[in-house]
Amino acid sequence: MINIILFGPPGSGKGTQAENLIEKFNLKQISTGDLFRYNIKNETELGKAAKSFIDKGELVPDKITIDMLIEEVKKPTDSSGFIFDGFPRTVAQTEVLEKIVKDVLNAPINICLALVVDDEILVQRLLKRGKTSGRTDDSNEEIIRNRIKEYYTKTAEVAELYKQQGKYVEVNGVGEISEISEKLFNEVKKIS
Ligand code: ADP
Repeated sequence: MINIILFGPPGSGKGTQAENLIEKFNLKQISTGDLFRYNIKNETELGKAAKSFIDKGELVPDKITIDMLIEEVKKPTDSSGFIFDGFPRTVAQTEVLEKIVKDVLNAPINICLALVVDDEILVQRLLKRGKTSGRTDDSNEEIIRNRIKEYYTKTAEVAELYKQQGKYVEVNGVGEISEISEKLFNEVKKIS
C-alpha cells in the first residue's frame, strides 16, 4: 500500500496531478475540495455548513472536514493506496490523518509530495480557471488571495511535520503537465 499526500497551495495543480498518479499507481483519490463541492451541489447539511467558508476563501472548520474525511477513508476500496488531495490543511488535520491511516488502513503516510508554484502564477491560474469552472471561490482575486493567505498561515506548517520525518519532497509545479507528472512518478517509485 502507498499513501501519498499531494501538497501545495491552491492552484498548484494537485487535482490535475492526482488524476495522473491514481492511474499510474492504482490509487484512490480523496479530495476534500471535491467532496465539499459534491455536498454543496446536493444541498446536504454538510454542504450547507461548508459553503459560507468556501465562498469567502477560508478553510472549513476542522471538525466538519475531519468527520467527512474519516467516512471516506473507511469506505471499502480495491485500490493500492490513497492520494490525499487538499487534506491535511492544518496541523490538527495532520494528526488525525496519521492516526486514521494507522488505525483503519494499518499503514503509514509514505510521502508528502509538494507542488511549488509562485504566488502570482497561482492567482493567474485560478482567475483563468474561474472563467470556466463555475467555482465561486475562483471568481474574484480577493477570495483567491485569501485562500493563498490561509495556505501560508494555516497549511504551510504541515510541511514541517513531514520534513521532520524525512517524507517531504518538493517538485516544481510550473511546466508541462506530463513533465511534472514524470517527476512525481519518479519520487513515488523511489519509495515503493
Ligand atoms: P484549492 O486547492 O484550489 O483551494 P480545493 O478544491 O482543494 O481547492 O478546496 C476548495 C476549498 O474547500 C478551500 O478553499 C477550503 O475552503 C475548503 N477545503 C478543502 N479542503 C479543506 C480542508 N482540508 N480543510 C479545510 N477546508 C478545506
